[in-house]
Amino acid sequence: MNACIHIKTKGIIMGNSSRTLSRRGFLSGAAMLGLSAGAAAVASGCAPTSMQASAADNAAEATGKGTAAGKNGDVAVRAVLAGDELLELELLESQETPGVGEAALDRLEALIVQNQTLNVDMVTGATLSSMGYLSAVKSALESAGQDAKQWQKRDHAASTRDEEIPSEVDVVVIGSGGAGLSAALTARSAGKSVLVLEKLDTVGGNSALSGAGYAAPGTWLQLRKGVEDSPDLMASDMLTGGDNLGAPTLVHTLCEGALDALEWMTYETGVSWSPTCGQDGGHSVARTVQPAGYGAAVMVKMAARAKKLGVTVATGVTVEEIIRTPGGAVTGVKAVDRVSGAQLSISSPRVIIASGGFGANLEMRMQYDPTLTDEYGCTDAVGTTGDGIVMGQAIGAGVTGMEYIQTHPTGSTTTGNMLAMGSIRSKGFAFMVNKEGKRFVEELERRDVVCAAELAQTDGCGYFVFSKEDGVASGIYDRAADELGGMKSDGTYFEGDTLEAVCDHFGVDVNGVKETIALWNKDCEAGSDSQFNYRSPMKPFGEAPYAMFSVTPIVHYTMGGLTINADAAVLDEDGVPIPGLFAAGEVTGGIMGSNRLGTTSYVDIVVYGRIAGANAAR
Ligand code: ADP
Repeated sequence: MNACIHIKTKGIIMGNSSRTLSRRGFLSGAAMLGLSAGAAAVASGCAPTSMQASAADNAAEATGKGTAAGKNGDVAVRAVLAGDELLELELLESQETPGVGEAALDRLEALIVQNQTLNVDMVTGATLSSMGYLSAVKSALESAGQDAKQWQKRDHAASTRDEEIPSEVDVVVIGSGGAGLSAALTARSAGKSVLVLEKLDTVGGNSALSGAGYAAPGTWLQLRKGVEDSPDLMASDMLTGGDNLGAPTLVHTLCEGALDALEWMTYETGVSWSPTCGQDGGHSVARTVQPAGYGAAVMVKMAARAKKLGVTVATGVTVEEIIRTPGGAVTGVKAVDRVSGAQLSISSPRVIIASGGFGANLEMRMQYDPTLTDEYGCTDAVGTTGDGIVMGQAIGAGVTGMEYIQTHPTGSTTTGNMLAMGSIRSKGFAFMVNKEGKRFVEELERRDVVCAAELAQTDGCGYFVFSKEDGVASGIYDRAADELGGMKSDGTYFEGDTLEAVCDHFGVDVNGVKETIALWNKDCEAGSDSQFNYRSPMKPFGEAPYAMFSVTPIVHYTMGGLTINADAAVLDEDGVPIPGLFAAGEVTGGIMGSNRLGTTSYVDIVVYGRIAGANAAR
């Protein structure tokens, strides 16, 4: 969001620099991620101009405030009108995801104010944020004395595209997540003209929604902590974690490139890191570092860098076909521009598929794992529908490991979202019990093991219980600030002064919990977990007040996808590279085996994104 964004409306330039933005304060990023399929917002300098003194100033001013539920909490808006003309929409409150939900709010604000209508489309990829914002604006208009229903019936305001989409480039990238932008930045730095096509209205895909924990051997944080690690050890953890079904060459390439890619993120795109190093499930040592601002911040930074380097990123463009001469090389893509409705044919000797996985495509995921019905929630962004896999297969690409679909053990029992609160699992500050108040699995076990254990419990879920003080010390309240309001209101998080109170809320047996705490504390003293051999140092259970939240498995990641080699070249069904075609990120298969270890996907997208970009530029 840009604190200085000005909206041109009928010759009046309005400033809204007083906007109250989300806590995370991505002031320029969200607007930037709207990129080339811009709503017709015009950014200019901050100072109000004399043009503000217009006929509208003579009309009586009215203001109204509206609030509605967005994706992560309340969205509150103030509408400022002069007579019947809407001069300004001031965002008073928003917890929406930087770069995704907030970018949507910016686009809608511009469309509504510029066109004086509430008849606007939702921003794809940010539907809940869009709905919340439109409802809040509707109530704000009503409270300012307007007939909001009439505003909804006005002429439809369509987005316009600020930048032309080139019909010929050196490299086309399908998808603007971490893999796509890493590839685009690398190819552009090698001097190539690069076009990124993104089917949603916002940039970032799942990569922007991710916690973006990043596992790397040899970081300064490991050195400071005295942790001994190596690419080989990390590769061994990943291969073991994936039941030795990952391709060793691909896994070693990832692990050997992890530290270098981390440094590239730091120095090339300006990502900064929290000063801690954690041990995630399935890793034998603490090697996970955390970017400040999580995936949303990383994507904001990558998109900013891409813009600066002259990469063209066109949102609202769905690639439908990759063109390949029979048995030969790729020559470009066919796509649909959803903004203009035009069919596009783009020539390019290099195509990089970075379109993500297929977790959000119910039919496709059930084709490969029929147990993953619509009863499972899904953490994936709506664009994660396997398009790149299908398009690749249509021109002869092979696929690997399609049946391996990962569920994550800390999904919400109501929304199906992945809970940032769930990261308490890897901090050693909390354990998980069942309805009977008993622990039932080592909390730091592999995701698939923990998911299976949860499903075997009463109601198919688990309950993390901890002292509020430990929750604060673990950092989860900062990390989960966006979701906590929603969890409190839907009852999936509860805190109280006694264990009885929190257990009662969830129907968990408090006596069982008390026995579990006594055993946990005894084991802490003895220095090892007598039940499940907890692999991280155990901390004694803290004092009141207490907190509890419920979790259940949700579809999170698809391990399978296009077959590639260590050059990120896409291989055909016979294992032969398809000339000019590369792939990186979740769209590829064969790296994670049957199970991906946590905090390895960001490594995958950046390491292989860069390899794809560099080789496409050759
Ligand atoms: P990764 O983590 O592998 O980078 P992401 O899910 O972060 O994957 O990003 C993939 C991006 O690709 C998403 O933003 C998604 O909307 C986009 N995408 C998927 N299919 C298409 C398509 N057919 N055309 C253009 N973009 C696509």
